[in-house]
Amino acid sequence: MYDVIIIGGGPAGLNAAMLLGRSRRSVIVLDSGEPRNRWANNMNGFLTSDGMNPREFIKKGREELAKYGVKLVDTRVTCATYSKGTFIVDDADGTVYKSKKLLLATGLKDNLPELEGLEKMYGKSIHHCPYCDGWESRDKAIAVYGPKRHGVGQSLAMKNWSPDVTLYTDGTDDLTRADLELLKRNEVKVCKDKITRLEGTEDGMLQHIVLSTGEKRAQQAMFFSLGTKQQSDLGEQLGCEFTNKGVIRTKKLQQSNIPGLFVAGDAARDMQMVVVAAAEGAKAGVAINMELQKEERK
Ligand SMILES: Cc1cc2nc3c(=O)[nH]c(=O)nc-3n(C[C@H](O)[C@H](O)[C@H](O)COP(=O)(O)OP(=O)(O)OC[C@H]3O[C@@H](n4cnc5c(N)ncnc54)[C@H](O)[C@@H]3O)c2cc1C
Repeated sequence: MYDVIIIGGGPAGLNAAMLLGRSRRSVIVLDSGEPRNRWANNMNGFLTSDGMNPREFIKKGREELAKYGVKLVDTRVTCATYSKGTFIVDDADGTVYKSKKLLLATGLKDNLPELEGLEKMYGKSIHHCPYCDGWESRDKAIAVYGPKRHGVGQSLAMKNWSPDVTLYTDGTDDLTRADLELLKRNEVKVCKDKITRLEGTEDGMLQHIVLSTGEKRAQQAMFFSLGTKQQSDLGEQLGCEFTNKGVIRTKKLQQSNIPGLFVAGDAARDMQMVVVAAAEGAKAGVAINMELQKEERK
């Protein structure tokens, strides 16, 4: 019986483990090794670690936990239940773990555009978050991928980082007259042709968008925003409440609607960035320890 099981060893899970380890709790982190930003070479916007390789960040985090006795297991959790004050967690190898408290830090995954050539460039020159990668794309020829009306807001926002922004609606024609006027007033170009493929360098830098008309348009970066989904269904299994954006509803200190179950990082409500995930992990770690203290007090 552990004090706490943490499912997910990204920035949220690892930072929670640090606070709990430092609070002398018995903690195990179960992690399947697929952090959301694994496609990227750089992790930007985290003071003192700005630009660090995300894999290096996780490796360093794991090393820092060693001295606090936190146990780390590389595995995928398949099932989690709660019964009479105990969380029971099964992994893909058939091992069963039990704890008094459970933290879900399992993250999200992004809905990606289905475009030939995208996979090699995703996280290198094709991004979804301007706060993470806008600076590196500054003053470049930026494409925004947004079928139907999905790209209007993001293409206007990208003007913050470059004067040269084109919205690609990929063969759809749903922009309203008001959208088109707004985009024109803000000098966002619009291309409605279907995209055939993306072309870029060996190291993943976008060079051209090839259209179904045969035209090749020079572009150096692409942004999109097509939504996300939970990386695991454990929140659903446990009966968590979700927001209409598909993230788990949490209270101020990352408590869910299930007693003893906390959720931190991208899987929970709030901004989706490494520094925020780590901060939520820290908050959850402290809150879990405080709950345990209360329960143990004689
Ligand atoms: C391409 C890209 C680039 C990004 N760049 C930046 C950036 O520059 N700066 C920034 O601040 N943010 C960036 N982000 C956002 C950032 O990745 C997330 O905000 C951050 O990773 C969230 O941390 P987390 O701990 O909540 O989840 P994650 O980092 O996604 O970690 C979740 C962990 O849970 C594990 N897991 C999931 N399900 C299970 C299961 N069933 N059993 C066991 N383990 C499980 C996963 O394997 C993973 O290791 C980027 C995102 C993407 C997609």
